Amino acid sequence: MDFAGSCHCGSVRWKGTLPATAVLKCHYNNCRKLQGGDYSSWVVVPRSQFQIAEGLEHISSYNANDVSSKSFCSFCGSASFLVNGKHFPGHFVLPLGAIDDYTQALAPQIQVYTPDKAPWVTLHDDEPVVS
Ligand SMILES: [Zn+2]
Repeated sequence: MDFAGSCHCGSVRWKGTLPATAVLKCHYNNCRKLQGGDYSSWVVVPRSQFQIAEGLEHISSYNANDVSSKSFCSFCGSASFLVNGKHFPGHFVLPLGAIDDYTQALAPQIQVYTPDKAPWVTLHDDEPVVS
C-alpha cells in the first residue's frame, strides 16, 4: 500500500499503490460542479492499483454521463472515487484531498482544462498545461 484515503466521516476507506498514471489539477466546469471547488485535484490510478478497504456497502454512485460517474459516501457525501471513461478508461480517479498522508509522489504534475479555469486561479509553471 502506497497511500490510503477516506471520506470525512470515515465510513468509506480505500487504499492504492503508486505509481499514478497522472496526478492532475482539473479546471473543467463539469468537475467544478461535481466536486464543489473552483478547481479540483485528482490521483489517477489503474483499476488494479486501487481497492475499497472498508465501507463498500456505504458507497452511492451518480452517473454524470454515459461513461463517467462519481461515487461517494452515503453518510457524509465525500467523494470516494470517480470513473472517467472518456479520458481514463480502466482507471479510478481519486480525490487528492481525501488521501490521509501526502508524499511528494502525490504532487500534481499537470493542469488540464485550463481554458475553463477561474480568473483568479494562477497557473503554476512547474505543472505543465495539458489539453
Ligand atoms: Zn463518509
